[in-house]
Amino acid sequence: MRWVLWLAACLWPCFAHATVKVASASEIAREVREMALDPGECYRVRDLALFKDEARFFFTDGYLIFGKPVAGIRMSAVFTADTETGDAELLVLPPNLGERRSLASYTGSPNLDEHLGAAVLFFSDDTYAKLTEQIRQNPANRKVPEMGAMMADHWTPAVRNIAASFQVRLVWDALLGEPQGHGFLAISMSGKTLGNFDFYYDRSAREQIVLGKLNTRNNLLYFDVWTSFVARSFRNRPIEPDLTLDDFRIEAELQPDLNLSVVTRVKAKSGHAALPVLAFDVAHPMRISAALVDGRPAEVLQRESLRSELLRNVGNEMFLVVPPAPLERGREYELEFRHEGKVIFDAGNRVYYVGARANWFPNIGLQFAKYDLTFRYPKDLDLVTAGELVEEREEGDWRITRRKTSAPIRMAGFNLGQYERVRVKRNGYTLEVCANRAIEPALEDKYAETAVEPPGLRHREPEIVMLPPELPTDPLARLQDIASEIASAVEFMAARFGPPALPTLTVAPVPGRFGQGFPGLIYLSTMSYLAPQNRAIRALDAHGRLFFSDILQAHETAHQWWGNVVTSAGYHDDWLMEALADYSALLYLENKNGSQPVAMALDSYKSNLLQTVNGKTVESTGPIVLGLRLENSQTPNAYYNITYGKGSWIMHMLRRRMGDDRFLAMLADLRKEYERKPLSTEDFRLLAARYLPPQSGDAELENFFDQWVYGTGIPSLKLSYTVKRRGGALRLNGTVTQSDVASDFSVLAPVEIQLGHGKTLTRWVQTADGAVTFSMALPQAPVKVQLDPSFSLLRR
Ligand SMILES: [Zn+2]
Repeated sequence: MRWVLWLAACLWPCFAHATVKVASASEIAREVREMALDPGECYRVRDLALFKDEARFFFTDGYLIFGKPVAGIRMSAVFTADTETGDAELLVLPPNLGERRSLASYTGSPNLDEHLGAAVLFFSDDTYAKLTEQIRQNPANRKVPEMGAMMADHWTPAVRNIAASFQVRLVWDALLGEPQGHGFLAISMSGKTLGNFDFYYDRSAREQIVLGKLNTRNNLLYFDVWTSFVARSFRNRPIEPDLTLDDFRIEAELQPDLNLSVVTRVKAKSGHAALPVLAFDVAHPMRISAALVDGRPAEVLQRESLRSELLRNVGNEMFLVVPPAPLERGREYELEFRHEGKVIFDAGNRVYYVGARANWFPNIGLQFAKYDLTFRYPKDLDLVTAGELVEEREEGDWRITRRKTSAPIRMAGFNLGQYERVRVKRNGYTLEVCANRAIEPALEDKYAETAVEPPGLRHREPEIVMLPPELPTDPLARLQDIASEIASAVEFMAARFGPPALPTLTVAPVPGRFGQGFPGLIYLSTMSYLAPQNRAIRALDAHGRLFFSDILQAHETAHQWWGNVVTSAGYHDDWLMEALADYSALLYLENKNGSQPVAMALDSYKSNLLQTVNGKTVESTGPIVLGLRLENSQTPNAYYNITYGKGSWIMHMLRRRMGDDRFLAMLADLRKEYERKPLSTEDFRLLAARYLPPQSGDAELENFFDQWVYGTGIPSLKLSYTVKRRGGALRLNGTVTQSDVASDFSVLAPVEIQLGHGKTLTRWVQTADGAVTFSMALPQAPVKVQLDPSFSLLRR
């Protein structure tokens, strides 16, 4: 499950009781692990209410028991409606159409109104104060210690179990102490109709309110997000990072057993008045053994905590650093981390897979920063990383490589193997392409041995059938090709979009069927290095072959601009980076090989979008702006097909609306205007609208975005028409009929009128449910009238 780049890396807390003596992080962590309910704090309660902006909880009738204090603070409670008249209810009213639709797609209703049997609450905000205040005010609420003993016995294991998921967060909040207007409330509850589900109200997250449910599919855990949005009282508030990091100096030593031990130094500046505790992300296998702040040892707390990790990001783990004294606002500190772990795996034959490509060192979110990277590694290996080469030398059995980035970047990756390299210099850009000298066993071609047992002859030995040999697999087969291809792609894109993220680009293989475009470093699938005759390639369909031979490398190259120069504002906007990268790759291929590959790719994207799962098309899973929320337990492929496939279609449709020159001018402008700036979907709409031809319909592209970006649907469109002469004038009367989409679906569809001698008129017709008519005067009799002959629209 790869969800939630959207919760900010900084989840902040506040407690009403800030004067408690500060215990160490590990002491508080132990108390959280041993958390228990407090029989002396159990109440028969009526009509308690908790209002959290668009969410309202009513604990109408039942029992409420609080947890025993942890570090002097009450941070948990359990409610049950376990009485004859017991009841509780949760109302959530999402603030916009998109979120109401998302909620409805999971629960059947655009608003949530659910009666609850029980709820387990964790909080670091004012929830405890709010509940106790109401309990005091109403004499109908009374203490019930005998019920408390029973509930404590029954519920403490569940509370401990869930608390383990929030351990680091609860410790963080407890240590942060002073009220900073952050804090969170998390409620796991059992609904009368919806079963178990979760509610989050996190004051420090990018979207404070989240409703969703843990689900499994094929043994994979998913957190299906029903709805997630910025809460009412947080709208239009600027988001400031709590800690900004810059000037990373990383020294890493790779042992022959692939263990990586690292010293990471970085400058940090606090955006808060006094920061008593710092939170960082790092990959799961990386263990932090020490942290220093300005050379003084700091306490480190690192624990696994499933639920909050699922909410945060794949493979990342939050850990805490408690400096010897709180960081002062605005002052620069030197942080140092010592950490080690196994983030590299051997795929066989000395082909290596780097698992934690972006998070092998401590970081906070994705901030632009400068990097100075030194690697020490066995000299029979090659290791590549981002930036300009400062030095490379040997020292006994070791090789040392140091690189520095000439511009700030957001992700610093590395890759290693036993490489052949090809270096190409063009127009001031240096490109180095590496290929493994051997192939990992998963891709090896051998004389295939297949055991065949003829039917009915059960007792005979199976025959061994020797399949004819194929060309031996050569991992270097396409090295030269790839190098000149990527060099051409860099040249093509730099000429149109401006300079890439860094002047030096290294490309190195990764075993797997994917690529990744980091600043200055591309991970390219080992499949892309194989010759077309290779069996692994021959086993693919036509689009699969095109993908590994051409699209993937151009797509990752394009990320040097889209994703690494221009960045997305949040998870709702990530689709822009993928769509821009993919469509830029198609533009490059079109320039090189003509329109055929583009048509094939778009066609294949469309058929993937129109595939049905449980009677619904993949595309109808949700609008593209849901981002990683599309990767849910019901349609795990929807994220990929919608982000890349529909995303490319959206770019293609914009290009057809604008024309080629305007479209390219828009991309160049986008690169310039949003250099190292976050781009939101609305920013993009406004910029794109500027490049529509004069007098275009839907001049602000509001309708276009409503249908294709914020909505779902792929229409079927049909054209019928007559041409009549009345008096001396010729008139075209046409009807465009739309079906297979919701009744409010409406787009501009091009009707092309060929007049002979290559002259063509295009009439954009606004479609609607059923039939719409249009009429226009023609200067001469048409040769042909066609609806969207060049596939300018995503349609069936
Ligand atoms: Zn991509």
